Amino acid sequence: MPYQQELNTSSRVLMGPGPSNVHPRVLKAMATPLVGHLDPEFIAIMDEIKEMLQLTFQTQNQLTFTVSAPGSAGMETCLVNLLEPGDEALVCINGVFGSRMADIVGRCGARLTQVHAPWGEPINPQLLKDALETCSPKIVAIVHAETSTGVLQPLEEISKLVHDAGAMLVVDAVTSFCGVDLKVDDWGIDAIYTGTQKCLSAPPGLSPVSFSQKAVETILNRKSKVQSWFLDLSMVMNYWSGAKRAYHHTAPVSAIYALRESLRLVLEEGLEARFKRHKANHELLKTGLEELGFEFLVKPEYRLPQLNAVKLPEGLNDAEIRGRLLHEYNIEVGAGLGEFAGKIWRIGLMGESSQPNFVNSLLSALKTIL
Ligand SMILES: *Cc1c(COP(=O)(O)O)cnc(C)c1O
Repeated sequence: MPYQQELNTSSRVLMGPGPSNVHPRVLKAMATPLVGHLDPEFIAIMDEIKEMLQLTFQTQNQLTFTVSAPGSAGMETCLVNLLEPGDEALVCINGVFGSRMADIVGRCGARLTQVHAPWGEPINPQLLKDALETCSPKIVAIVHAETSTGVLQPLEEISKLVHDAGAMLVVDAVTSFCGVDLKVDDWGIDAIYTGTQKCLSAPPGLSPVSFSQKAVETILNRKSKVQSWFLDLSMVMNYWSGAKRAYHHTAPVSAIYALRESLRLVLEEGLEARFKRHKANHELLKTGLEELGFEFLVKPEYRLPQLNAVKLPEGLNDAEIRGRLLHEYNIEVGAGLGEFAGKIWRIGLMGESSQPNFVNSLLSALKTIL
């Protein structure tokens, strides 16, 4: 497409690991005229977003807002603010995103302990319990919905172990948020980050976060400065809360408009109804895929409804068929990552992309191709 031509992309059905399709109301909100990022009208929008994020995270945490950058920046925000050089941190790893957290912990100059599970399985609480007897970490970090494998990690038992050991619980909820139940307060989560482009179905580029009182006190009592200027919450906090609302960076105004509308859509639907819808469309997809010879990677009790990791049937050419789905049917499905590259597909049914007609389109396209 030469640049002299107006931008004109294909209408894709986004059934990969994110971004997901965006509701027309969200696209329309993004076209709203700009106001300044310190305009009283914009400050009021920020307050509405905080309130809607508290409802969707199911938390009363005062420090709940959105980082002006994608999910990985939310991950980095949680870790760089809570850890100081020499601190101990334990990271649970059963896929790509646990490894990413471990990488950041190292860059913070913290000492890292790892607890592993094979890819495709959740972390075993007993292994965490054993590890907590050999170290005393300040934080334990874990992924709630591992997008590289389709595993849903139960958190309640883990949370109890972490708090009994005197540590804080840091959770990656990028893919779980607004797709499966997530109770920040009831589950004792101290720091959590998510993304906008998965089950929330807003455009990528923002990372909602929330911090418990204990996490906030830890941040305010740091001995050293956070090594990242941009992500240093002691300064960002003054833009998102407090009386002054001081300039920190220019907020991505249009993206925040989109976030506001996508949160309104979630609350209109209701969290319970939204979780039910994700589950029902997963069941529909599962029945159809199994008829075509695909097998699920993850045991039923740990399966994410919004990220279906399936093993490719014998003889099926991964790249060729995903290419045909994209070019002939406008359907995007996700490839395997890391040790699963070429072996699995990751079929996302996230937010607006969790619809029976999308599932049926994919199944009928696959039937024709195969
Ligand atoms: C997508 C994802 C991220 C990273 O989010 P980006 O917006 O791509 O930076 C982190 N963790 C999990 C579990 C994810 O699925």
